[in-house]
Amino acid sequence: MPWLSQAQYNHCGILIPSQKSINKVKDKPSSINSFISIDEAANYIKRIVKQVPDWQQNFVLQERNGINNAYAHIQNGKRFITYDNLFVEALDYQTGTKWASVSVLAHEVGHHYFDHVLDREGSTHSKELEADYFSGYVLAKMGASIAQAKAAMAKLANPYGSHSHPPRNQRLTAIEKGYNTVKPRKKSNPYSGNFYTQQNDVRYVNVQPRSNKLVQATWFFNNGQKVSENLHYSRTTSRGARVYYNNYMQNTRRVELYFFRDGRIREKDIDLKKRRYAWYNFSRH
Ligand SMILES: [Zn+2]
Repeated sequence: MPWLSQAQYNHCGILIPSQKSINKVKDKPSSINSFISIDEAANYIKRIVKQVPDWQQNFVLQERNGINNAYAHIQNGKRFITYDNLFVEALDYQTGTKWASVSVLAHEVGHHYFDHVLDREGSTHSKELEADYFSGYVLAKMGASIAQAKAAMAKLANPYGSHSHPPRNQRLTAIEKGYNTVKPRKKSNPYSGNFYTQQNDVRYVNVQPRSNKLVQATWFFNNGQKVSENLHYSRTTSRGARVYYNNYMQNTRRVELYFFRDGRIREKDIDLKKRRYAWYNFSRH
């Protein structure tokens, strides 16, 4: 795999754009909103820093053309983030999203936030993962989607890692962790999913609450048949169970699902003609 050995990564483990990419960015400065001036990069840096509570920018941003890189460092006791405009634009060009460069800048800001540049040991796995976590956190606060927060690393991080930086999958996990501290994934609804029922001829029931007023339930029978019903909210019982129902077989039968506050679900099958009914308890599939 000769192309792997040719791929070059910067000290943060990000693929250095090829001369071809750089030339494309040079030729097409307006393809994606570009970092036209240091003001724009400085603006992003300001916005990144603003997301972090109780912290002030403790570094100077400087543009340096031709280095094809962006990195946090310390020089004569002064902290810097130094970046090449074309490098930053190439990140966006290669990933198709402005969030790529924002996340890489946020990653570099993270190195200053965590004081990673104070020692002389350079990049380590734990430092890189902390800076990735930081970028996930910041991008969530800035309104990026999780895919946008991961875009740069997903496309440009070294999949295998090295002694100085971790492999891509670990970095994506770190970004997601940081992201989720701001925007936790929705907790799964206890009433949603597949359930066993006590009904003999039913293999399982899939329950999907669609809204406060509507639940969709699908009965999967042992013989391979399935029946889907939209159940509408009718009432809340004195014990706090929400009841959803639908009539079927020309209004001769009614199915009711009882959703109890503790997460239990029960089905009541009613024969409206004979005025008989049966109860079935659901349990998690
Ligand atoms: Zn780094």
